Amino acid sequence: MDTMTFVLFGGTGDLAKRKIYPALYNLFLEEKMPSTFSIIGLGRNESTDKDFQESVENSIRTFSRRLSDNGSKIEQFLTTIRYSKLDARNKEDYQRLLQLVKDREEELNIPENRLFYLSVAPEFFDVIALNIKESGLGTTNGWKRLIIEKPFGQDLKSARLLNQNLNNAFKEDEIYRIDHYLGKPMVRNLEALKFENPVFQALWSNRSIANVQITASETVGVEQRAGYYDQAGAIRDMFQNHMLQLLMMTAMHAPKQKDANEIRAEKRKVLEALRPLNKDEVGKNLVRGQYEAGLVNNKNVPGYRDEPGVRKDSQTDTFIAARLWIDNQDWAGVPFYIRTGKKMPEKSTRIVVEFKRNHNDIYLNKDPNLLVIEINPNESVSLILNSKNPVNGELEPINADYASSQLDVPDGYELLIYDAIRGDSRFFAHWNEVELSWKWVQPILEAFDEEQIPLHGYTAGSNGPDAANRLLEEDGFSWWLDK
Ligand code: NAD
Repeated sequence: MDTMTFVLFGGTGDLAKRKIYPALYNLFLEEKMPSTFSIIGLGRNESTDKDFQESVENSIRTFSRRLSDNGSKIEQFLTTIRYSKLDARNKEDYQRLLQLVKDREEELNIPENRLFYLSVAPEFFDVIALNIKESGLGTTNGWKRLIIEKPFGQDLKSARLLNQNLNNAFKEDEIYRIDHYLGKPMVRNLEALKFENPVFQALWSNRSIANVQITASETVGVEQRAGYYDQAGAIRDMFQNHMLQLLMMTAMHAPKQKDANEIRAEKRKVLEALRPLNKDEVGKNLVRGQYEAGLVNNKNVPGYRDEPGVRKDSQTDTFIAARLWIDNQDWAGVPFYIRTGKKMPEKSTRIVVEFKRNHNDIYLNKDPNLLVIEINPNESVSLILNSKNPVNGELEPINADYASSQLDVPDGYELLIYDAIRGDSRFFAHWNEVELSWKWVQPILEAFDEEQIPLHGYTAGSNGPDAANRLLEEDGFSWWLDK
């Protein structure tokens, strides 16, 4: 693995503390970091290296999955870290940063391989990328890479503009767009489940599958993020990115090679085959909702419009359910139902694949077979089969299952950062995927803006508006496994 410098913009922020330092430290413990590396944290305030290292130590001690037996590993890790004050718009700060990066490269005798991680608000993405270029930080005789966090634009137009701006400083194959759902181990396992098992390989198409249900439900509301969320809603916060990524990963064909180009090409084909929803079809295939006061986990909670920071007349969606069709040979006729919402009864991200029943006069296939893939917070795979009860001889559904929750599973950020350090972009969103997702979502955003789509209220603690159930009932199905 190449030795390198890891430059973290937003190095004093919440994401850095909770996820990025713990991830880097766990990679270090597992000897997955390069033999020599330098980490430079950036923030807006003055700080000494020592104070900054102490704050990193605190975040590791609070949030790391593992700590070493004695303090020596943390000590060793902290010696790799330096701090520099930087305001995204101040050109002198970039010169100081460049000098620090170079000094450390020289001191450690490492090549100019530089990984820039933008863990800052999206308004800074393009200004930082431009300043990396103009300051000379991006002129290296090694490699350079850019990791950015969501949101990648607020609509098709702004996403395209942002991408153009980033492309002035970084080429597509240097940009690693984090969709942290692609860091979740069970999402990474989908490829193996589908293609390493002849049983599923044979069944993975409209010949055997009746419908696919992808749910990401949360019990929480907007918490401290009302300012952002009230502008974004579930459609931008979850649907355009994470939910469509889960759809691509579920429906994609086997790639010719297990490399990033082939995998991303197969994902792109799913979006290209996704039947566009014209504005006048949105209402027939998509349900939007907003939570009202109710009971979650036995606690009374206020409605969305009564949350601090939310407009009293907010029309923002906190729930989306949609029916999607993939018009290719394998998936024609199979509805994909996708649903995400806040203040629902349980926190669960899962994919349920309902198989077709093949009943005849003798064997009725009373209950359909289901493949249930739990992604978060639990990780499990179960297959629901029909079986004869040994006592009364009646048919009953049984559950053949596997759960990985007892294992010490790495956090998604560990996996993603490890990939980016090695230059493996398989589990990052390619621009084509981002653009096609926004393109598909754009008529929905417009239909929302023009108030063409009713905003259904749903009681906090419920599974969303009734209309979301009717969406499936129209096709003779219902949501599985709802609490
Ligand atoms: P935060 O507000 O806690 O931290 C922001 C960081 O940006 C701080 O280090 C701050 O010093 C820095 N910053 C602010 N203004 C700056 C400026 N003018 N110049 C340079 N640096 C500046 O935010 P966060 O929660 O750490 O989120 C960072 C990014 O990650 C955001 O884009 C957010 O949307 C995204 N994100 C966060 C989470 C999360 O769980 N926190 C999850 C997904 C995506």
